[in-house]
Amino acid sequence: VLSVPRQRVCVLGSTGSIGTSTLDVIGRHPERFEVFALSAHSRVDDLAAQCLRWQPRFAVLPDVAAARDLATRLRSADVRTEVLVGAAALEEVAAHPEVDSVMAAIVGAAGLAPCLAAARAGKRLLLANKEALVVGGELFMRAVREGGATLLPIDSEHSAIFQCLPEDRSAWAQRIDHIVLTASGGPFRQRDPATLAEVTPEQACAHPNWVMGRKISVDSATMMNKALEVIEARWLFDLAPRDVRVLLHPQSIIHSMVVCRDASVLAQLGTPDMRVPIAYGLSWPQRIESGAAQLDFLSLASLTFEPADAQRFPGLQLAWQALEARPGTTAVLNAANEVAVAAFLERRLRFDRIHAVNAGTLAQLAVPEDATSTLGGLLALDASARAVAGELVARGGV
Ligand code: NAD
Ligand code: MG
Repeated sequence: VLSVPRQRVCVLGSTGSIGTSTLDVIGRHPERFEVFALSAHSRVDDLAAQCLRWQPRFAVLPDVAAARDLATRLRSADVRTEVLVGAAALEEVAAHPEVDSVMAAIVGAAGLAPCLAAARAGKRLLLANKEALVVGGELFMRAVREGGATLLPIDSEHSAIFQCLPEDRSAWAQRIDHIVLTASGGPFRQRDPATLAEVTPEQACAHPNWVMGRKISVDSATMMNKALEVIEARWLFDLAPRDVRVLLHPQSIIHSMVVCRDASVLAQLGTPDMRVPIAYGLSWPQRIESGAAQLDFLSLASLTFEPADAQRFPGLQLAWQALEARPGTTAVLNAANEVAVAAFLERRLRFDRIHAVNAGTLAQLAVPEDATSTLGGLLALDASARAVAGELVARGGV
């Protein structure tokens, strides 16, 4: 019998949608994986339950009170998980010498520092946290190169592209003419744009094909998610911005495509289930059972495609605009969008004003030169953008 040491996995954001799907896949392969660390932001009950089930070495929470609460509960259940506190602890577990793989499933720019720590420590880095790459771009990719990390995309579109490309990265540029990211169009693809002002958080979070966290659900409804993914793809696959294109495909069966230089098109298909890209990231270059259902081709009515309507989805265009502007502009766009989406979810901002806040912040904030070469510079830029966006939100986005 072949005995291979188990992969020790650190799951950052383990209580979220991607985090729980990751633990679901891990649970199907106890001989391959071991949970080394888990982290949560607010759902202490969920994290406690995960610690009982997985008995990780470490669990990380943001504040002392929550950590004490968790530690007490774990002690009374005789679980020996050590509870750590704060953002620095996320970096510590992500870069821990005993960790093999890090699943980056925190939402937002808050995930950047632990991603950089994992990259610099040369980990196998499974990236769901697209905002980290949108903010960090060049710095992030440099950390991956210099740290000797293996960066594996988890976003379904980027996993699809990755699955269509050869293992040898040095062959990518020669093969690719452009890539096509597919987009479902979200819940409002056919809604009268004049009625978008009345959209509620509940409606925006009701995605037709995927069940996801609230922030990415709102981003899917505005198509800012696709804008972030265009930026993410630019960095992951080292493409010129114009070579990243977007096509609406409402059925979410084709997860994205590579158009090669000879006009051959490679696509990756499957049921919309994030456990497929997660399982691929965990097992690459092998493939393991994911728990997802197989495609039933005969029950697929049809696969359709349409262009993204710029009037309905004005945010999409901001991706290329930000990529062509001074480095750091994508970090500004991401920060503005995080502020706007949070305000919308708290019913402080109209749905159709999310774009106004994003575009307004880009217009108002002058990105300083050399803001992107250090984490400190990026976090300062992120903070200035949040301040500008916050003022715009306070004025209703206008
Ligand atoms: P979610 O809201 O369900 O979970 C987010 C997780 O991050 C939770 O565990 C939460 O506790 C933690 N978290 C939140 N804020 C934090 C902070 N400030 N510091 C530390 N931890 C914090 O989100 P999700 O849907 O699982 O998405 C996670 C990431 O994966 C996002 O970047 C999203 O864009 C990306 N992604 C998600 C999906 C999906 O299907 N859900 C698909 C593709 C990409
Ligand atoms: Mg995606």
